[in-house]
Amino acid sequence: MIKLRVAGFLDHSTVNGEGFRSVLFLSGCHHNCPGCHNEEMQDFAYGESVAFTDILRKISKNTAIIDGVTLSGGEPFEQCAGLLPLLEELQKMSLSIWVYTGYLYEDLYQDPVKSKLLSFIDVLVDGPYQAVYRDDHLRYRGSSNQRFLKLSDGKIQKLLDY
Ligand code: SF4
Repeated sequence: MIKLRVAGFLDHSTVNGEGFRSVLFLSGCHHNCPGCHNEEMQDFAYGESVAFTDILRKISKNTAIIDGVTLSGGEPFEQCAGLLPLLEELQKMSLSIWVYTGYLYEDLYQDPVKSKLLSFIDVLVDGPYQAVYRDDHLRYRGSSNQRFLKLSDGKIQKLLDY
């Protein structure tokens, strides 16, 4: 059974991407950004192992009220094997997918494993949190170096401005 290490789940949120969104926080991150807002989630053992079918069930209960699903963490791209089947199912449900990552798109695109997720993502918020660029007035991100990339078939369509 495919399982993901999950640090948390929100049925609906308005601060983790545009609209009303369910949010899945994945455990584990190697980026070590100074000032990380979810430091406990850097631990790959944090949280609990959850079957991807159970995550799907939780999200399915919210489809009447949500616009989409956001993956955050932690670093979602460290759990590609489990996320791939989940994203395939979410795409069938016509939910928009936002993913927060500490990696840059250009590095993900060149990675033979991580790049497989890109074609399922509508908006990638990329780049590590950098305290020097922190601005509490920013929407949907912690520091201004993080980019909102609208993707289509895994390629950058345009840079979004929020
Ligand atoms: S990428 Fe996110 S979770 Fe990972 S260290 Fe940076 S701020 Fe924390």
